[in-house]
Amino acid sequence: MALGLAVVACLVAIASAAQASARHPRGHALCDHRTPLHRHKVFRGEIGYGIAGLYGVTLEDLKKLNPKDLKNADKIRPGMELIVCPEIPPRERLEDVYKVEPGDYLGKVAELHGLTIKELLRFQRRPIKNKNRLRVGQKILVWQFGEILEPWRKKRDKNKGKLRDGIKLLPHSSYYIKRPKRVWGTRSTVEQIRKVMVRYQKKYGGPRIVMGDLSKEGGGPLSGHASHQLGTDVDLGYVFTGDQKRTKTFIRADKKNIDIRRTWGLVHEFLKTGRIRYIFIDYGLQKLLHQEALKRGVSESKLDQWFQYPRGKGRTYGIVRHWRNHKDHMHVRFRK
Ligand SMILES: [Zn+2]
Repeated sequence: MALGLAVVACLVAIASAAQASARHPRGHALCDHRTPLHRHKVFRGEIGYGIAGLYGVTLEDLKKLNPKDLKNADKIRPGMELIVCPEIPPRERLEDVYKVEPGDYLGKVAELHGLTIKELLRFQRRPIKNKNRLRVGQKILVWQFGEILEPWRKKRDKNKGKLRDGIKLLPHSSYYIKRPKRVWGTRSTVEQIRKVMVRYQKKYGGPRIVMGDLSKEGGGPLSGHASHQLGTDVDLGYVFTGDQKRTKTFIRADKKNIDIRRTWGLVHEFLKTGRIRYIFIDYGLQKLLHQEALKRGVSESKLDQWFQYPRGKGRTYGIVRHWRNHKDHMHVRFRK
């Protein structure tokens, strides 16, 4: 009986939350008015980190919203409902059966559907035998994403706007400012950047990072950028080895010239703020960063909430995502 009451109470709480989001279509109070609230129904094989990545948030964010259900994130069960403030618009999910074709292997089938091998394996109703030798015609369960759900479907141009009460990022020995007239941001953005850069310097001692544009004073359109209007975006150069580490401009990074340990250190510090909406990094560099993070002892499942890699660059997943033209700098967008 007591359990029944608890369930009813819980349903009522969710219903009123849904009503509240209808009254405030622009954003729910629990989501700091950034986005409507979404109820995620856990399905077969899902783990907490993966659910977080699906919506571009972290497991910590999910735990704050669902303290009871996620007390032990390993114990989540299919059919459970979790509330989430999506940074990536939720889509309908369609289960499908894939028939293995000649030349297919597990990694290929996974990437074809924007999944990791582990996600694919956990999703099966019956374990796949002979994982390393698929049979032609063998049936593998997969899922695909359909339409973006209401009320996320309406496209608002989130990149356009003004910056009110912005502050200027001041010079610091941990970075080199490219264009001092274009380093205005919201107070929280500027403070977070500052904090990250101080930590980076303390841990790695340099070299200086090339700090690209934030926004101009007052915000609004900024030449050369589609976004950078609201004071919540910043471009930063990667860290290099050899002579290139003294660069004062953005340089194209690859596995030969990048200082992957320090670049990962920098990205990690941004991620650890818990205030990041996304970081655009070229897919090839993501792979190097992912490898480096594993080497540094970050668990694969934890990385899974942050990285789009190895799902392929077409899949919108995680906080670190591919966007073209990000071979010579990363673009960090903070949450409002
Ligand atoms: Zn940018």
